[in-house]
Amino acid sequence: MNPSDTALGPVARAGVGGAPRPRVSFEFSPPKTPEAEDSLWEAIRRLEPLQPSFVSVTYGAGGSTRDRTHRTVVRMVQETALKPAAHLTCVEAAREEVDEVIRDYWAAGIRHVVALRGDPPGQIGGRYAPRPDGYNNATELTAAIRAVAPFEVSVGVYPHAHPESGSLERDIEVLKAKVDAGATRGITNFFFDLDNFLRFMDRVRKAGVTIPIVPGIMPVTNFKSLKRMAGPIGVPLPNWLANLFEGLDQDPETRRLIAASVASEMCARLAEEGFRDFHFYTLNRAELTYAICRVLGVRESPKEPKEAAA
Ligand code: FAD
Repeated sequence: MNPSDTALGPVARAGVGGAPRPRVSFEFSPPKTPEAEDSLWEAIRRLEPLQPSFVSVTYGAGGSTRDRTHRTVVRMVQETALKPAAHLTCVEAAREEVDEVIRDYWAAGIRHVVALRGDPPGQIGGRYAPRPDGYNNATELTAAIRAVAPFEVSVGVYPHAHPESGSLERDIEVLKAKVDAGATRGITNFFFDLDNFLRFMDRVRKAGVTIPIVPGIMPVTNFKSLKRMAGPIGVPLPNWLANLFEGLDQDPETRRLIAASVASEMCARLAEEGFRDFHFYTLNRAELTYAICRVLGVRESPKEPKEAAA
């Protein structure tokens, strides 16, 4: 068999055989405790040498989580060579408060914001009620960010449709509105049905959306927690994925190996379809994402694969 016929062939050789090196980005959440902060920074340090296009830090409702996001992205600017993207939502905040956060980000050297409407606190997938003096949705937030400064603005994209939108057509219209408001990149929610994603992308492109859309990759080690996460946000989980993890509750080692293999295979197939950018939901852990990046040909130094091949 020709090695290029294998699913991982063209991607695993990226950086060795002249195939374009995939571009990766990593998502982290701000830590809640000093211990969590240590382990987050261990993960950041481990992944930093892979030279991601950017790293993003999520944002929650409430003052303390906002401060944690701010602290984390500012520390990234000050202490690393990374390009941080700060998430920002409209939840439970007046327009003036949000504008102040945007101005603070710019003053701290942040040049990329992930603009999201957000969900009601403690109710992912719950019904959202905007504050009368707040921004109503991510489109308004995107326009507000661009009105403050020429930020790069990424927005959320939902290959299985956002649970509140009712239809993919509506979602694609909303995505177009976000682009018209100044969004420069879409990042998708995680998904496992590749064919559905590719069909979705065809529709997005046919609708005239031309900004880069980066697939969001979730390396899964715990199927039960994934199910809890995916249900409220309307991401279907295929039976083949459930079968892979069946009977492995007490076997974290095998679950990790399967997780790396599933995510690598997904990225490889996406690369065959022409996708070069991958956004990893790291859950603040480095090992799996690091291993998957290695499989994809993303290494610390561009020279290293050549040396290995010699
Ligand atoms: P919007 O684009 O505003 O859309 C929300 C809903 O309203 C959709 O159903 C849309 O169809 C509808 N809608 C929008 N505009 C209109 C309009 N003009 N008229 C009628 N309907 C409209 N959440 C967090 O709290 N913190 C995070 O850090 C975070 N990070 C995320 C990162 C990514 C990559 C993704 C994909 C999601 C993230 N989320 C985060 C979750 C996100 O906040 C939720 O999915 C939220 O429910 C929708 O946010 P949005 O930005 O897509 O909203």
